[in-house]
Parts: sequence; structure tokens; C-alpha cells
Amino acid sequence: MNHYKAPVQDLRFALLDVLGVESVYARIGAGAVGADIIEAVLEEAARFNETVLAPLNQSGDQEGCHFDPDSGRVTTPRGFKEAYRQFVEGGWSGLTAPEAYGGQHLPESLGAAVKEMIDAANLAWGNYPLLSHGATEALKHHGEDWQKEVFLRPIVEGRWTGTMCLTEPHCGSDLGLLKTRAEPGPDGTYTVTGTKIFITAGEHDLTENIVHLVLARLPDAPPGTRGISLFIVPKIRTARDGTLGEPNRVRCGSIEHKMGIHASATCVMNFDGAEGYLIGQPNKGLQAMFTMMNTARLAVGIQGLGLIERAAQNAAAYARDRLQMRSLAGPKYPDRPADPLVVHPDIRRMLLTCRTLAEGGRLLALHAALQVDLMERAPDPKEREAAAELLGFLTPIVKGCLTEWSIECTYHALQCFGGHGYVREWGMEQLARDARITTIYEGTTQIQALDLIGRKVIQLQGAGLKRFLGLIVEFCTAQTGNPALAEFVAPLAQAAQDWQQLTMEISRRVMEDPQELGAAAVDYLFYSGYVALAYWWARAVEAADRVGDARLAAQKRARARFHFQRLLPRTLAHAAAIRSGAGNLMALADDELAP
Ligand SMILES: Cc1cc2nc3c(=O)[nH]c(=O)nc-3n(C[C@H](O)[C@H](O)[C@H](O)COP(=O)(O)OP(=O)(O)OC[C@H]3O[C@@H](n4cnc5c(N)ncnc54)[C@H](O)[C@@H]3O)c2cc1C
Repeated sequence: MNHYKAPVQDLRFALLDVLGVESVYARIGAGAVGADIIEAVLEEAARFNETVLAPLNQSGDQEGCHFDPDSGRVTTPRGFKEAYRQFVEGGWSGLTAPEAYGGQHLPESLGAAVKEMIDAANLAWGNYPLLSHGATEALKHHGEDWQKEVFLRPIVEGRWTGTMCLTEPHCGSDLGLLKTRAEPGPDGTYTVTGTKIFITAGEHDLTENIVHLVLARLPDAPPGTRGISLFIVPKIRTARDGTLGEPNRVRCGSIEHKMGIHASATCVMNFDGAEGYLIGQPNKGLQAMFTMMNTARLAVGIQGLGLIERAAQNAAAYARDRLQMRSLAGPKYPDRPADPLVVHPDIRRMLLTCRTLAEGGRLLALHAALQVDLMERAPDPKEREAAAELLGFLTPIVKGCLTEWSIECTYHALQCFGGHGYVREWGMEQLARDARITTIYEGTTQIQALDLIGRKVIQLQGAGLKRFLGLIVEFCTAQTGNPALAEFVAPLAQAAQDWQQLTMEISRRVMEDPQELGAAAVDYLFYSGYVALAYWWARAVEAADRVGDARLAAQKRARARFHFQRLLPRTLAHAAAIRSGAGNLMALADDELAP
């Protein structure tokens, strides 16, 4: 059995000591959310996640969801419904949502910390409320007042959940291909017809209604992504006063049998002339959907983080208990028949990779979430704009890197368990299977990478990158005279310079050959992730020294060294791959890639 202890102390350290959220919250009108409230929320979330969600993780995986083809109904595994009831009762569904619609309006950065715990405790369960958060954002920014009143409020209150219906059988990464149609009716409603696949939480038994946000085409829509509109399609028809009517013409056709997240229902959804309501402007649906997708992309990055943390915890505990072979330096525990695994350098390499990526990744993700708070609440419009640029730049890095690292780390953790990791009993293979989806949904790693280098860096002329590099330069300048940080500041400043140089080289190459963009993209994504983490590790050391807790300071310093000496050098291989260009990928004809 696999355990989970919420990392409350490290979350507290990240929010309060490194990111200094108290002063940021005060500046953006959330000054009431001080250290005491932050600590209380973290403690209460830890209790809920450790005692309610975590115990359902393995049983949910083994039982999976049930589908009844006659009724089209999905039943979630035992205990899920009761856990959802407790989640709603605890006020977690509206934690960051607007007060006007029944939410608590706590900062998104604090919500992200809570979300990490949910994902670590029970990733599959967490997928049911996950898209409610995205639907809240889409409705909040693009919905009409009546739509907010009728659909947003029950989602915030947790009485209903949301979905995001993009994917169709022939249309995944390329949304321009989608075919679902929406015909306008005489009364201002639309009839939506088409098939969506892979819809997370498309059908379930946790709530009385489900609000589907569906991308579809109007009859006169231009082709491609310029002709996509966004519609609300409730599972149960809903009058403007909020009363529920007849079931809508939308039905779950089946659920997928899949590698991981067995307890998360992945549904084929058939819309057969279902009643829907347009959100925002006709043909501008992708813009509205992007509000939801950006929220969901950060959220999936945080799923990766939760999995890394849980894998790291379990592997470290096992490595202390399991006795195998002696230390190369001679017996370290001579009174035992063998030394514990933790004495072996390569076990430590794997454990430290997981621990370093968890704690560094936490800062990366929480900093991105803090940009959402600044973007929405900072009094100065310039600061809001800066936060939006930084958030746009960081989102593909958080999503792309944290999910890829979750695959790496759950595999390292499984390896630490040896054969006991491969069998079901310890739950490590579940973590590895569950992690695998995170690099696929909400835009694959390739799509994140293209978004980063293509749109966020080249198209937007590096606006977000410049802001992040500015943070690094500011930090390095401020710490130049600090001997305690010297071992990190010089290599960090160098890494920032190299990153900038590499970015310019890629931009030049892309002007000559557009294929260079795709050839460089994923390596550039990882490169950016390792440099960004170097910044956060240097900041963590500085903060830990400042806090004055000697044990914490020594731990953070050792982990930062591990990052700088063992993980940051991975950028050299990524840079070499990028500089080798597109030629070695494109030389063979399409039919020469087969054996
Ligand atoms: C469990 C699960 C839950 C999901 N939940 C939802 C949901 O709630 N709502 C929803 O709408 N969808 C959902 N999806 C769909 C998911 O978002 C898509 O599977 C994903 O976007 C990829 O689309 P695809 O599977 O069609 O792959 P494709 O788009 O066919 O891509 C196949 C491969 O080609 C790569 N590729 C594509 N284009 C390029 C390019 N230009 N350059 C380099 N590589 C490229 C991709 O990265 C991928 O590796 C879910 C999927 C799963 C499996």
C-alpha cells in the first residue's frame, strides 16, 4: 500500500518564504489572506486529502468506473460519491471562485497548493472537479450574466460539474478539423450535433447535472480554427430560473478502458440535437476555450507535480527500510544482515532526482499560479499585463516539463522498489500508469513545446521570456556580494545568458527553415524547464538561509547542488540536439522510417 503525507511544510515554505505571497496578496486586495489563513487552509486540505481521498486511490484504480449501456449511466468506484460530498461540504469546490457566485475567492496560488494535494492523493478522483475549475474560468470571463447565474453558481457550489468537449475521433491536436455542428433555433438556443471522444467526467454519478462546454461550428462558419464557437450544453435542460427540466439530447455512448486513471471516466459523448447556448461571440469559441485550456494546462502540470511528490515519498521510505547488499564503502549498518537501499549512490541519484524535481517544480508551478492572481487582481494595469505575459510563457513549461518529469520520477520510484514496484501491491505501478496520461491530455508535450517556442517566444518576440530572464538578472545582481550564494549565482547567470543565446539562434534558423521550429521545440521546452528550476533552486537556498532553520538550509542547499550539478547539465545535451538542426530528422523520405 502506497502512502501519502501532504508536504504542508514545504508548501508553506514555498508560498510564504520563497514567493512572499503575503505581501503580494496585500498589494492585490487579498491582504486578509495572511500566514494564519494560508496555514489553516493547507492543514485542513492535508487532513481531507490524507484521510478521505488517498485511501480511495488504489481501490478506485482496481475497481474502475462502471458503464451501463442501456441507460448510458456511469457509476464511479465505491467511496467516490461520499468523498465528493465531503469535498463540497468542506467548501473546496468554490475555494478560488468569485464570491458573487458563492465562492470564497481565495488566491489561485493557494488553490494550486491545495490542488497539488488532491492530485497526489487521488489523481483520478481529482479529475471530476478539475474541469469545473476550467468551466468556472470560461464562464466567468465569457459568459452572459444569466449564464453565470444559471450555470456558474451550481458549479461553484459543487452541485454540478463541468466538462471540456473538444476532441473528436478525427480531431485531436488539430482543432481546426472539428465537425460538430450547432444550428441556431428561433428562440436564441442552438441544437448541437456531433460525437466527442475522450471526454473526462463526461458522465458520472457525483452530481445531479453536468455542464458540457462544447466546441462546434455554426452553419456559415469559416473553415479551420477561425470558425469554431463555444456552447454550453447541460446534461439536464435548465430553465433560466435554474430549475431542471427534461434530460437533454446528449448521452454517454461508452467509456474507455485505459492504461491508467481507471477511476476517471473517459467518455464518448453523443450530442444528438442537444439544446445549447452560445458563450461569447460566434466563431470566437477558441479564444473562450483557451481561457479554460490555460487553466486546465496549469492544472495538469500540477497533476504531474503531485505524482512526483507522492512517488518521491514512497521511494524514499522504501529505500530506508529495504535491506540489500552492502555499501561500497563497507557496511554502514553492521548490525543488520545488509545495508538499506538508501546507502547506494544510484538509489540516491533516483531519490534526489524525484525530490529535487518535486520541490523545484513546486516553486515553478506556484509562481505561475501567482501570475494568475496578479493578472486578475493587481491594481496597476502594467503589472497585470506583465503577469499575463509571464503566465503565458510559463504555462507550457509547467504543463510540459512537470508532466514529463512525472513520468521520469514515477519510473525512478518504481525502480527503487525493484520487482515490488512492478507488482500491484505497493501501488508504484499505478503511479507510473497514472502519470502517463498527463503528457497527452490538455495538449501533448509536442503541442506545449510548439506553443512555447513558436507562439510565446518567436511570435510574441520573447515578451514572457524577457520577463523571466529579468527576474534571474535581478536576483543574480542582488546576490552578487553574497558568498553563501556564489556557487549558484555564477552558473545561474551563465545559464540565463546561454538560454538567451540559444533562443536567438533558434529564431534565426527558423527564418531560414520553418522545420527547425518543430525540430528544436521539445528540446527547448526541457532546456527552459531546467534553467527555470535552477533559478527557483537558487531562490530556495536564499530563502532557507534567511529563515534561519539550519536543517532546512542544509537540505535545500544539498538539493540545489544536486540540481545544478546533475540536472542542469542536461541542458548541454538538449542544446547539442537543437544545434544539430532539422537535417538529421528530415533526411529520410516518409516511407523510409519503417523497417
Ligand atoms: C484519458 C483521456 C482524457 C481526455 N480528456 C479529454 C477531455 O476532457 N476533453 C477533450 O476534449 N479531450 C480529452 N482528451 C483528448 C486529448 O486531449 C487528446 O488525446 C490529445 O489532445 C491528443 O490528441 P490525439 O489523441 O488525437 O492525438 P493526435 O493529435 O493525433 O497526435 C498524435 C501524436 O502526434 C503528435 N503531434 C500532433 N501534431 C504534431 C505536430 N504538429 N508536431 C509534433 N507532433 C505532433 C502528438 O503530440 C501526439 O504525440 C483526453 C484523452 C485521454 C486519453
